[in-house]
Amino acid sequence: MNTDSSKPSSTQGASSPGGSPAWRPQAVARPQKGTSPYVEKALADVRNKVYPRSVSGIYARWRIIMVFVTQIIFYGLPWLQWHGRQAVLFDLGARKFYIFGMVLWPQDVVYLAVLLVLSAFALFLFTAMAGRLFCGYACPQTVYTEIFMWVERKIEGDRLARIRLDEQPWSARKLGLKAAKHTVWVLIAFWTGFTFIGYFAPIRELGAGLLAFSLGPWQWFWMLFYAFATWGNAGFMREAVCKYMCPYARFQSVMVDDDTFVVTYDYKRGEPRGGRSRRVDHKEAGLGDCVDCTLCVQVCPTGIDIRDGLQYMCIGCGACVDACDQVMDKMDYPKGLIRYTSGSAITEGLTQSQVRRRLFRPRVIAYTLLLLVIGIGLVVSVATRSTLRVDVIRDRGALGREVAGGLVENVYRLQVINTSETPLTLKLDASGVPGIAIAPADHPDQPVVVEGSANRLVPVVVQAPAAGSQPGLYDIQLRVTASSDKGRETVVTEATSFYVPR
Ligand code: SF4
Ligand code: SF4
Repeated sequence: MNTDSSKPSSTQGASSPGGSPAWRPQAVARPQKGTSPYVEKALADVRNKVYPRSVSGIYARWRIIMVFVTQIIFYGLPWLQWHGRQAVLFDLGARKFYIFGMVLWPQDVVYLAVLLVLSAFALFLFTAMAGRLFCGYACPQTVYTEIFMWVERKIEGDRLARIRLDEQPWSARKLGLKAAKHTVWVLIAFWTGFTFIGYFAPIRELGAGLLAFSLGPWQWFWMLFYAFATWGNAGFMREAVCKYMCPYARFQSVMVDDDTFVVTYDYKRGEPRGGRSRRVDHKEAGLGDCVDCTLCVQVCPTGIDIRDGLQYMCIGCGACVDACDQVMDKMDYPKGLIRYTSGSAITEGLTQSQVRRRLFRPRVIAYTLLLLVIGIGLVVSVATRSTLRVDVIRDRGALGREVAGGLVENVYRLQVINTSETPLTLKLDASGVPGIAIAPADHPDQPVVVEGSANRLVPVVVQAPAAGSQPGLYDIQLRVTASSDKGRETVVTEATSFYVPR
């Protein structure tokens, strides 16, 4: 069993006279925020490099699965084609977002706002139920750190080998290992930066431009910027991002309570901690189940000791659970000394089914209902949104005039947006004044066609008989009927005014 210099003290060990453990997870004494010792401690923490040890187990497997799932989606999605174009493309230049069969225009920004509200409630819900589960398994910082650490382990070795390598003076071997590691890191970071901007500019053209070294300066800038951010955050900053930069870590404490399912050390079972031989009956020797091997600390990517109680730096990754379960196996003790459970399960001795029942408390139910209502509303709204948008703009330069044939004429411009992917043929009608009629100003004999995912400005002339009309403004309606080649018809009616001059 491994021990090293990072081993924490095991002084919190004595049983109280009544037999129950005197030890409790203590709030870690910290210098006052804003004071000089606080800043010194924070800086010292940043400088103290964490060398997480590799671990295997059920949660390690889940983390690997999540790395594959998230990265297959991230790296693969921009290459996917849909009806002859990139399936997911946030084309900022053209101000259109393509998401499979859906084309979102700037007018659809409300969907984005609702999506953000939905994400916020989802985060509240999952945090109230299971703490920082997102951080531990799906957050890009965790996922890229996991990938970069895997590369590091393959090239430099596991924890102790890496510590020794860093302590060694520079040599050809050390230089070679570091160069190999950084080469692979830079390649991954570069590919990540390239993929990221491939969501905002067609990735195939981007790839061709990259091979020909003909990308624009902004494309180079953003690609290198994201590559640098990936390399810096996953290679060097790592847990410091979770500890000092992530705002979620700071406000999660208001969402987590004693009934939240989090990674918890069972101090009642574990204390008093201490080393022992497997042959010794530790209960008779007055010891708890924790053998104080510090493996749970060594595998922790943020370098904390979960035995000190739940801390805001814990990202809920479960690495300490896997490590401790292996130790419990070796000692022939029951697994789960560190496990996903609630704080009240430990303090009140609840069973797992009681813990699960307590998960469904009023605020969890409220978040769930809100999520369902907003989610269903969003889906229905997107599914039933019109494929045709029409805005009527009056021609300010020519309000209204009398023309030959005893008619009064007003000119408008129709801003027509086709949000579907098939061309639409428009039929125009007007109503609201007896004898009113409408015709496109350009080529009135030809049908007006708006191509798929396009907009078009259509000047139209509206005419009505002058006889019998008093001068003034009349409310009228302009109706646009759009037919697709699949036979679907969409009708949009817009209100405007018709001016009859003196
Ligand atoms: S891994 Fe388990 S047994 Fe070892 S120190 Fe951590 S809690 Fe104690
Ligand atoms: S304490 Fe355990 S769950 Fe929390 S970050 Fe460290 S290893 Fe992961």
